[in-house]
Amino acid sequence: MSNVLIIGAGGVGRVVAFKCAQVTEVFSNIMLASRTVSKCEAIARDVYDSLEVSIRTSKVDADNVPELVSLIKEFKPAIVINVALPYQDLHIMDACLETGVHYLDTANYEPLDEAKFEYKWQWAYQERFEKAGLIAVLGCGFDPGVTSIFTARAAKHHFDEMHFLDIVDCNGGDHGKAFATNFNPEINIREVTQKGKYFENGQWIETEPHEIHRMLNYPNIGAKNSYLIYHEELESLVKNYPSLKRARFWMTFGEEYLTHLRVIQNIGMGSIEPINYEGKEIVPLQFLKAVLPNPGELGENYEGETSIGCRIKGVKDGKEKTYYIYNNCQHQNAFKETGAQGVSFTTGVPAMIGAMMVLTNQWTGKGVFNVEEFNPDPFLEKMVEFGLPWHEQVDVNLELD
Ligand code: NDP
Repeated sequence: MSNVLIIGAGGVGRVVAFKCAQVTEVFSNIMLASRTVSKCEAIARDVYDSLEVSIRTSKVDADNVPELVSLIKEFKPAIVINVALPYQDLHIMDACLETGVHYLDTANYEPLDEAKFEYKWQWAYQERFEKAGLIAVLGCGFDPGVTSIFTARAAKHHFDEMHFLDIVDCNGGDHGKAFATNFNPEINIREVTQKGKYFENGQWIETEPHEIHRMLNYPNIGAKNSYLIYHEELESLVKNYPSLKRARFWMTFGEEYLTHLRVIQNIGMGSIEPINYEGKEIVPLQFLKAVLPNPGELGENYEGETSIGCRIKGVKDGKEKTYYIYNNCQHQNAFKETGAQGVSFTTGVPAMIGAMMVLTNQWTGKGVFNVEEFNPDPFLEKMVEFGLPWHEQVDVNLELD
């Protein structure tokens, strides 16, 4: 029986709140805190209407460590689930250290003024969490998160050595808008307009944005053009699985989406450099976020499904083996259950399960961990129970050589 503090009341925060409220035997008291308290209250109302579980709400600026510390001291959570934005990660980790509370997030730290994500800032907290006897779980959404846990399952049960890893992320859904992002537009656009990068033979190889693409088939969806992009879990996976000769990440984008993205970049609206507009300093990308559809409100008309998985080639008992593990998630089912679309659902469910793993002592340790460092089995069992069933295929054509 433990208190849980969820920070961030966007699409992902909504799903985490719903999912924690389904497991009151683990999360006995739930608080949802964010910058705009009315968003927390709306979620709390929906959770109560649907599950008859009351959750507390609070306003907090997660960039203000003293404010976070006093909220944590007052509510006394056993763990903080950080589903605000990556900019807040270090501040929330600082507050957890100061108050002696476990930490979990779904996206690695990014400095506000530089579109660059890397684990180095959070890995630097290793000693402090270890000394405090606390656990910090990094990247426990879907990707990063489940993709890393899928890889851990492959390593534990299917391979003696993994050589080639391709993470494939397809959103086969349609939200009916000309252009919208599936999660926070600022973070999403920063991520997908970066240069591509993959790991091969001990080195990182950089590509132009969207330079490399392949037609890949996704179960129940069909063929989709998939683009090689850099994604954060690659950094920890190649470190934790040194037998990997190559690791890549592929994401599907429609032509329409890429055209909009190109225009946004060409006219300077994707820039994170502040400009002066009529005497006020604004960041073009933040302004763009304000006029784009709110990803949290895409759910109602969202049709189709996501399909995210890992395609792995390696060796088992001296023989070459191929392995594909994936989950498909229907946007409509996610919306019916939580009022959020599939991308928020596939992120929020793993965040809740990760917190449950820590609070039920199935994931233990002291320090900062990426999720592939834990036992994947109890986590994967809970995924099926909480609405993210997964499937695996052995010795299939991975379509990627
Ligand atoms: P949203 O933008 O919808 O929600 C973010 C929430 O955080 C908002 O409620 C926002 O408040 C709040 N917030 C922002 N800054 C602060 C602050 N300083 N103090 C307190 N609250 C703050 O994002 P999503 O729900 O779509 O995504 C949440 C996180 O999940 C992101 O970090 C994203 O990168 C990550 N993610 C991870 C995925 C994965 O698979 N691993 C996939 C998708 C997302 P306000 O309402 O006032 O703006």
